[in-house]
Amino acid sequence: MTLSGVARVAFVGSRRIFASHLPSMQSYTPAFSRQVHNPATGEVIANVSCMGGKETKDAISSAFDAFNSWSKLTAAERSKGLRKWYDLLMAHKEELGQLITLEQGKPLKEAVGEVDYGAKFIEFYAEEAKRVYGEIIPATLPDRRLFVLKQPVGVAGAITPWNFPLAMITRKVGPALACGCTVVVKPSEFTPLTALAAAELALQAGIPPGVVNVVMGNAPDIGDALLTSPQVRKITFTGSTAVGKKLMAGAAGTVKKVSLELGGNAPCIVFDDADLNVAVNGALAAKFRNSGQTCVCANRVLVQEGIYEKFADAFSKAVKNLKVGDGFGEGVVQGPLINKAALEKVETFVEDAVSKGAKVLLGGRRHSLGMTFYEPTVLSNVKSEMLVSREEVFGPVAPLLCFKTEEEAIHMANDTNAGLAAYIFTNNLQRTWRVSEALEYGLVGVNEGLISTEVAPFGGVKQSGLGREGSKYGMDEFLEIKYVCLGDMNRK
Ligand code: NAP
Repeated sequence: MTLSGVARVAFVGSRRIFASHLPSMQSYTPAFSRQVHNPATGEVIANVSCMGGKETKDAISSAFDAFNSWSKLTAAERSKGLRKWYDLLMAHKEELGQLITLEQGKPLKEAVGEVDYGAKFIEFYAEEAKRVYGEIIPATLPDRRLFVLKQPVGVAGAITPWNFPLAMITRKVGPALACGCTVVVKPSEFTPLTALAAAELALQAGIPPGVVNVVMGNAPDIGDALLTSPQVRKITFTGSTAVGKKLMAGAAGTVKKVSLELGGNAPCIVFDDADLNVAVNGALAAKFRNSGQTCVCANRVLVQEGIYEKFADAFSKAVKNLKVGDGFGEGVVQGPLINKAALEKVETFVEDAVSKGAKVLLGGRRHSLGMTFYEPTVLSNVKSEMLVSREEVFGPVAPLLCFKTEEEAIHMANDTNAGLAAYIFTNNLQRTWRVSEALEYGLVGVNEGLISTEVAPFGGVKQSGLGREGSKYGMDEFLEIKYVCLGDMNRK
């Protein structure tokens, strides 16, 4: 299938989703539509329907109806559907990658890598579907038997961001479907096409209509419909901490199960005893993937004083080689930022740092390509009180902070409300354990800048979130535990 084929599938998918999942909308013509832009060129790629509360309620009803049958299938039957979906995602890897680059801007190689990564969640949970084991508890009385059952929580509302248009969806929908839940997915307004293409492929894989529903449009209205519906038993969200807090509060009204993957402020700690090359390459990968627009991107690079100058020099040289451009361009590894607001945020953070004494070693301004391109930037002499150290910059800016001792590094690293990912570079084994245990983070990379995988639990502590995605632990978020006490069957 070609790119236009995938895009067409996305639209056909969107119509089919309405037609097959929302009976009242057979001849649905959206009153409003929204433009989807290519952030590298500003071109309008597509118009998609702009939905709100009514359409979301219809999608919830359709998911609620489908739950009856989907949850009653055998695990092996659900597994087959998921496996077929995985096969189709992989068969369309290149085209889906192109769609991601088109609407999100990341370099094509990275986008195709996201399809691989995203599809693996579906493959992993196709396998995990068959391992939802209960338990038998030794009874407290001789004539009783005590069982623990695990059952799907019900309809899940999944709200996802634009920075991983596919993987943030599959990381939620994979385990949800494996457990027997059905979903209403709300992708970001900036990247709905990948979500629609993935949903269409789910239908083609034989996953019944109503199991995966996609709504897009007015975020607060859609969010409100999901939060207030008693039929939605679970909210799973990836996005900013501010929106996550609102959703958590909103879910209280109907006491839903909630899992949140929120923002980070990742420290990347380089100790004097680190291998310089390993540290430079690791920090580069941790900082500049997706032009710095990931929740696990290194936000602060803390470098010990003995290696500081050498690291700053080698790191700046490596950053200088990063080719910026349209994600479809040959050799490009840095795409545009998602929109003007993101560009302005990066500018404000750099201005704030410079006004407080930071030194620009490289970049520090908009790229000559215009649009939302920003030069890969390295700042030195950065202090903890600067905005760039306090909050997620979500752009290609690496602030270097200097520390003297291990205790100081741990204190600086933990001095934040966030607690998602942290990285350390050291060749000292004891330090590896000591620091990994002392860091208040959900994920720690040691001598490695890219650590996400479907087989390991991903999630944050403190204000970076609740719950885990990926691995066997990701299933727990979509399951309820039921205790069954079997009394004496022969009792008169
Ligand atoms: P965002 O503004 O919070 O948006 C995330 C999603 O929430 C989008 O679909 C958005 O819809 C929707 N939304 C916004 N307001 C809403 C409301 N009132 N009710 C319901 N939904 C609402 O975040 P973003 O800018 O897309 O993503 C960047 C953030 O995500 C960063 O902070 C990053 O660290 C975090 N993130 C975390 C992880 C993780 O695993 N921890 C992974 C990736 C990203 P619209 O786009 O349509 O407005």
